[in-house]
Amino acid sequence: MINYKYDMIVQIRFDVEGINYFSSQTCRKIRAMNTKTQFAPSPTGNFIRTIIQEDIDAGRVPGKVVTRFPPEPNGYLHIGHAKSICLNFGLAEEFGGECNLRFDDTNPAKEDQEYVDAIKEDVQWLGFQWAGDVHYASSYFDQFYDWAIHLIKQGKAYVCDLTPEQASEYRGWATKPGKDSPFRNRSVEENLSLLEKMQQGDFDEGFCVLRAKIDMASPNMNMRDPILYRIRKESHHQTGDKWCIYPSYDFAHGQEDAIEGITHSICTLEFQDHRPLYEWFTENLPVPSKPKQYEFGRLNINYTVTSKRKLKQLVDEDIVAGWNDPRMPTISGMRRRGYTVAAIRSFCDGLAVAKTDGVVDIAQLEFEIRNDLNANAARAMCVLNPLKVSITNAPESVEWLEVANHPQQEAMGKRSLPFTKNIYIDASDFSEDTSLSRKKFKRLVIGDYVRLRGAYVIKADDVIKNDKGEVIEIIASLVPDTIGQNPPPEMKPRGVIHWVSVTEGKEVELRLYDRLFLAEAPGKETDNYLDDVNPDSIKVIKAFAEPSIVNCDPETVFQFEREGYFVSDRYDHSVDTPVFNLTIGLRDTSKK
Ligand code: ATP
Ligand code: MG
Repeated sequence: MINYKYDMIVQIRFDVEGINYFSSQTCRKIRAMNTKTQFAPSPTGNFIRTIIQEDIDAGRVPGKVVTRFPPEPNGYLHIGHAKSICLNFGLAEEFGGECNLRFDDTNPAKEDQEYVDAIKEDVQWLGFQWAGDVHYASSYFDQFYDWAIHLIKQGKAYVCDLTPEQASEYRGWATKPGKDSPFRNRSVEENLSLLEKMQQGDFDEGFCVLRAKIDMASPNMNMRDPILYRIRKESHHQTGDKWCIYPSYDFAHGQEDAIEGITHSICTLEFQDHRPLYEWFTENLPVPSKPKQYEFGRLNINYTVTSKRKLKQLVDEDIVAGWNDPRMPTISGMRRRGYTVAAIRSFCDGLAVAKTDGVVDIAQLEFEIRNDLNANAARAMCVLNPLKVSITNAPESVEWLEVANHPQQEAMGKRSLPFTKNIYIDASDFSEDTSLSRKKFKRLVIGDYVRLRGAYVIKADDVIKNDKGEVIEIIASLVPDTIGQNPPPEMKPRGVIHWVSVTEGKEVELRLYDRLFLAEAPGKETDNYLDDVNPDSIKVIKAFAEPSIVNCDPETVFQFEREGYFVSDRYDHSVDTPVFNLTIGLRDTSKK
C-alpha cells in the first residue's frame, strides 16, 4: 500500500491558461493510487490519439501507423522532449506501429556527434526503441538536392543574391505584403548553373541562396519565397566535407517525413504556420508519400527553462557542471538526480495533449518522483549533521541487527545493520529543553526516551559540552529487550529517530540540490532568466551512512530515513568515494 497523502495533491495547482490540465488525471490517480504505481496512457485529453483511431477506422492508414521523434542534435534532450518522445513512441506502440528516431541535422554549425550519442542514450533509457536504424536528415541530402533541381526546372525555385538585410526588407511584415526579388525571374538554365556553382563551393557564404517561388504577398510569412538552400562552408558530423550547401529546416523536414512514410507527423505548435509550406513542397515534388502534420502544445514547467539554447548557455557559462548536472531539466540530468523512468513517463502520460501551450506546475513532476520512490526505494540511514551518543550499557562488540529494506515491500529483503556503543544521531534530533511537549518534539530530550529506528529504545542521561557550551556528546543508556518490542509504559519513547554506528558507519559525500531557478517564470520579471538563477542550488556536505549502502552500484536510489531520497551518483560514486545526490525531499516544502 502506498502511503499517499491527499494534501500533496491539493497543493498542485491547475491554472494553466484556463485549461484544467490535471483535474481528471489527478482524480484518476487518487482512485488508483492505493493499488498502482504506474499508469497506462491517459484515455482522455489526447486529440491525436482520436485522429489516429479515426484514420484507422476510415481505412486511411493502409499499413502500419508510423510516427517519428525528430530532434536536432544541437543539445541534450530535456523534459519537454520527454513529452514528445512518450507521445510519439507511445502512440506507435499503442497502435501496433513504429516510431523512427530521426536526427534533423540540417545545421552543422550547431550540431555535434556528442549530442547524437546522448540523445540515443536518453531515448533508450526512457525505455523506447526506434524502428530499424537511426535515421538522419543528412542521409537524404542527395535526394533534397535533386528535388531542388526539380523545383528549378518547374520554374518554382530561383537563386537570389539579395543580402540578408535586403531580403528582410523585401519580405515585408505580417501586415505589409513583400516585394518580388529582382532575381525572381532568372531563367531555369541560369538557376541550374548557379545552384551547381553554389554546390561546388564557387561562392562565399551568404553570397546567395536558393529560394522557392511561391507568393511574396502571402499573409503567411512562411510562404514568401522561403529559403531552400544556403551556403555553409562547414564540416558536418555525418557527411563530413561532402556538402558546402545545406537545406533549410523547412525544406528538409516535411520531405524527411515523406521519404520515411510517416503517417502521423506530430510536432509542436510553433510549426503550425509552416504546415502550408510543407504541404506546398509535397504537392510540388514527386514525394513517395504525403504525411499529415498535427501540432500540440509544448510542455513548459514553472521554475524551469526548457529551451536548448538557454540550457546550453547554462552549460557554456559554467552555471551548471554540464548538460547532465543533476539540477538540469535534461533527461540525463534528471537521471543523474535519481528521477526514475517510471515517474517521468507517468508524468508525461498524465499531461494533456492539447492545442495550446501551457505551464505545468513542477510539483506535478515532483509528486510523481516521490510517489514512485516511496513505493520502490529501499530505506537506509544516513546522518547529515552528526552528534555523538555514547550508550553506556551497550555491549563492547558490534551487534548486527536485521532490518527490512522497505516497510511495505517484503520482497525487497532485509539487511544487516551494525549497532555499537557509539552512534551518531542528527544534532537536530536532540534537545536539552525538557519543557518541549511530547507532541511537538518527537525526538530525544534529556531525561527522556526515544526509539532508534530498527534498534533499541534509549534514554538521554547526560551531555558533554565544549568550551562554548555546545553539546558535543550525549551520554545515554539503552532499555534492554526493546528491539521490535515496546518498553514498559513509563519508558514510552517520544518518537523514532535515525542513527548510524560511529565505528561501522561510513563517511559519504552528499550533494544537496535545490531548484536551479528561484522565480516561477525565469526571466519574466528580470528580463534575463540568468538573474533568477538560485545561487544556493547546490551544497556539498559530508555525512555518515550505514555501511551497507556504500557498496551499492551507481544510480541506486534510497530513502535516507527522515531525510529524503538520495541516489548514488552515476559517475562519481564508488565504494571508496561514496557520493549521493539528493533526488528530492520527503515532502513538498516549497512555499506557494
Ligand atoms: P528547443 O526549443 O528546446 O531547442 P526544439 O523544438 O528546437 O527545442 P528539437 O530538437 O527540434 O528541439 O525537438 C525535437 C522534437 O521535440 C520536436 O518534435 C519538438 O516539437 C519536440 N519538443 C521540443 N521541445 C518540446 C517541449 N517543450 N514540449 C513538447 N515537445 C517538445
Ligand atoms: Mg527545433
